[in-house]
Amino acid sequence: MCGIIGYVGNNAAIPILIGGLESLEYRGYDSAGVCVLNKSELQVVKNKGKVIEIKNDKRINLIEGVCGIAHTRWATHGEPNEINAHPHTNSSNSIAVVHNGIIENYHSLKRLLEKEGYIFRSETDSEVLVHLVEKFYRNCSLGSAVLEALRLVEGTFGLAVVHKNKNEIIAARRGSPLVIGLGDNEAFLASDATALVKYTKRVIYLKDNEIAIINNKEIHIKNFDGENVSLNVENLKLEVEQIEKGSYKHFMLKEIFEQPDSVKRTLTGRLKNSRIKLSLNLQDIRSIQRLILVGCGTSWHSALIGKYLIENMAKIPVEVDYASEFRYRRPLVVRNDLVVGISQSGETADTLAAVREAKLLGANTIGLVNVVGSSIARECDSGIYLHAGPEIGVASTKAFTSQVTALLLLALYLAEIRGEKIEENLFRELENLPKQVKEVLSEADNVRKVAEKYYKSSNFIFLGRGINYPVALEGALKLKEISYIHAEGYPAAEMKHGPIALVDENMPTVFICTKDSTYDKIISNMQEIKARKGKIIALVNEIDPRLSVLADDVIFSQKTDEFLSPIVNSIPLQLFAYFIADLKGLDIDKPRNLAKSVTIE
Ligand code: GLU
Repeated sequence: MCGIIGYVGNNAAIPILIGGLESLEYRGYDSAGVCVLNKSELQVVKNKGKVIEIKNDKRINLIEGVCGIAHTRWATHGEPNEINAHPHTNSSNSIAVVHNGIIENYHSLKRLLEKEGYIFRSETDSEVLVHLVEKFYRNCSLGSAVLEALRLVEGTFGLAVVHKNKNEIIAARRGSPLVIGLGDNEAFLASDATALVKYTKRVIYLKDNEIAIINNKEIHIKNFDGENVSLNVENLKLEVEQIEKGSYKHFMLKEIFEQPDSVKRTLTGRLKNSRIKLSLNLQDIRSIQRLILVGCGTSWHSALIGKYLIENMAKIPVEVDYASEFRYRRPLVVRNDLVVGISQSGETADTLAAVREAKLLGANTIGLVNVVGSSIARECDSGIYLHAGPEIGVASTKAFTSQVTALLLLALYLAEIRGEKIEENLFRELENLPKQVKEVLSEADNVRKVAEKYYKSSNFIFLGRGINYPVALEGALKLKEISYIHAEGYPAAEMKHGPIALVDENMPTVFICTKDSTYDKIISNMQEIKARKGKIIALVNEIDPRLSVLADDVIFSQKTDEFLSPIVNSIPLQLFAYFIADLKGLDIDKPRNLAKSVTIE
């Protein structure tokens, strides 16, 4: 969460900083701010709201200078307003700081600093950083002062600091990602490599507990013990087109339509002649007794589907946990457990912490992430990259279907090792999956028509059974995230144990009732809703005369193997949420209160 961008070089900093903020905006859009050095002065402009506010602010045009930092905020401490916006400066306006993360002991540090006479202006936790740096900036370099300051700090940070007299940026991280881009006589800093791809492909990922001193000539990196760290320059495998919207109205829609390709990329090189190739360098993979899948939000939903797949195919018990709960409930993890951390960004703070906890307890760990080189990818013993391509839309779509595809591959891989037999037909269907995904997208116009009928409803229920129950949860989550309509996902049979009390003629219920082993049961559940005058939208993959009586509206999915059905079935529901939000005229790529890459607990 939160976007950081920095530049030091020979070109005007403002266009680079504003451009960077625009490409990082999906990480937070409560406020934005820039700070540029000009003739030994720090020029700061901050604004409440989205990046467009600061872009259109006339004060921006007056800023000159070739070194600066900028921030787009997702507020944790203090309401989103101009004062709380980053960068934060000290009283004499000589030092500025931008910060991503949470300073957990800010309260006691603030009291201490106030006693010493430091004046605080904002309600943020981050502001303590700038005063601490000022306190320690006495007869030493700016880098050393930052290091001293960080010794007192508890919590997480990705931060950048500038001083009015120094053409340099100091960057440091613990828990929040930062990447340095190398140019010719210029350097860049960003919380996400997508902001750098326009300028350079040569990058260095800062690791936890490292500090970088960056100027237009050189970069030094040290660990927090002050020891030099050698520079590991990597080549960014990202193209500018991948992070642009193209002709689509929103990134979310583009990413929904990219799914035939993203699913294909998840499969590429991993499926051959009914065998699965994954390079999992795990000790004793044969003796694994149990898997624990951990994730948050959409990733947690894919984990629920993963449980179904792995238990059914590989016959190994699977537990699914919210990453945030797992680490605090003293989990009973033992040596032969395999813990799988699932996260699009690979930076989700709770999932990263859960994986670390599992490692400490002696478990093997796998990271199932999209962003190559991310923290979870680096810290796990092994991993399966999704290769879905950059996901910019805050509401996850293609990462979800790729997560389920990767879990399917993992299930098949473990089944093979365990000698469990898999129907040949499943492999054929798997090869055909990208085509099925493409076919289901041709339903978009019809989905829009159904959305037109229901977009004014204020509540929805989503019901599914078996492997499609998590698809119901995900369908409800998508709708909540971008349309702000209250929606609940439930296992269809659970309805009668409570939620059915909500049903009346104003309550639409979306049923996932594609032909599978629970089909007849779900038709009965539908009858129960109909009997109470509820409106029914049925997601089907076969024409059934019973449905023409029961369903008010029908959306078509594709026929495929039951194990693959969550992938194709989730796509019409993504479209449904998208069209409803679009009809309501909402800002789909920047939904209220949300941001992507949740790097705080
Ligand atoms: N905790 C800081 C704040 O509330 C930083 C939040 C962020 O990561 O955007 O300002």
